[in-house]
Amino acid sequence: MNRFLELVSKHDQYRKKVINLQASENVMSPDALKCLGSDMASRYSLYEPAIKSDAYGGTGYSEEVLHETEKLASEVFGTRFSEVRSLGGHISAEMVLLSIVKKKENILSISEADGGYTGYQTGYLPEMFCFQNYRLPYKKEVQEIDFEKLDRVMKSTKPKVIMLGQSFFLKPYDLKHVRDIADDYDSMVVYDASHVLGLVAGKAFQEDIAKYSDIFFGSTHKTFFGPQGGLIFTDNEEIYNRIEKNITWRTMDNYHISRVASIGTALSEMKQFGKEYASSVVANSGKLGKFLHEKGFPVLYDPWFSYSHQLHIAKKEKDNPNEFLDMSRKLEKNGIIIDREGRIGTAEITRMGMDDMEKLSDLIVRSIQGENVRAEVEGIALNLKMRYWMG
Ligand SMILES: *Cc1c(COP(=O)(O)O)cnc(C)c1O
Repeated sequence: MNRFLELVSKHDQYRKKVINLQASENVMSPDALKCLGSDMASRYSLYEPAIKSDAYGGTGYSEEVLHETEKLASEVFGTRFSEVRSLGGHISAEMVLLSIVKKKENILSISEADGGYTGYQTGYLPEMFCFQNYRLPYKKEVQEIDFEKLDRVMKSTKPKVIMLGQSFFLKPYDLKHVRDIADDYDSMVVYDASHVLGLVAGKAFQEDIAKYSDIFFGSTHKTFFGPQGGLIFTDNEEIYNRIEKNITWRTMDNYHISRVASIGTALSEMKQFGKEYASSVVANSGKLGKFLHEKGFPVLYDPWFSYSHQLHIAKKEKDNPNEFLDMSRKLEKNGIIIDREGRIGTAEITRMGMDDMEKLSDLIVRSIQGENVRAEVEGIALNLKMRYWMG
């Protein structure tokens, strides 16, 4: 057998036997997967306004895929404009920031220490595009924006953009309050919903995102049902046109048609099942937090724990930089997968039909205590059945 088919097959078999609690991951339906692996995966399609035609032949169906995906995206997220070709959440951030921030202007974003995205920190996107990033004041203990300090920071930095969204993301913002402050200073409100895009689609997180932000965008594969990619939304035509200019031959060239077809499938699944899925994800993380806490596992933010798909783990051993790595490895030996940064996620298990959070908390805690629960985990994982798709 081809070496790569062999590795992929081993990986697939392995993944069937484990319970995945990584907050940035999800599973695709067989339909979405089929689109991704179709003939479209090696085709080009590029509509050129100058010649009022595609630059490539044989693109009739691919053009339909793109247009129907755009239409469905706007419908599911309730915006006038949607951009569905972006290759990821990070690329979407590049497209958006390039379109609205000029050199030497300022942005505010949540710091990495408060759970913000690394890409917005000095040394990454700000350095590439020659703008300045300042810390958006945030109260980590309650996971809320520090509005008292924000006013002062707005005065001193006059940011072009207030960039919201986090990689460690538990609670929606008081977005109306941010909008009011942004308006006082003529700033734009941009919302990076990478982690929570599926919850937003299912109206279980930040329901007012389209109302109070100028632009929002996010990854298609964290809480959303898609393959890896990005979606960008706005109601503002002028902003939309600027973003469009920063796509082809600037931030990317071809957009991977098969991937867009797969995202179209994910959008139709979200349209039909998104509400049920997203509310179950949030309910499951709340329940899992409560059960873990009751069993003495160091989950943060008692008594509310989470309003998203994530739970955050408290650091107990101050001098051990590998605490989360060790914990993750210990769980992995038992077939339970979490990242090495102190997050637990409930998106994938919820899609896989797992709702018994008491049992799950029991397996996590027993693994941490050194018990071998591998066979039990495997038994559960092998019997899971994916839901929220047409099959
Ligand atoms: C994951 C993440 C990104 C990057 O998304 P990709 O799809 O991996 O490019 C950007 N912003 C935030 C807040 C994220 O959590």
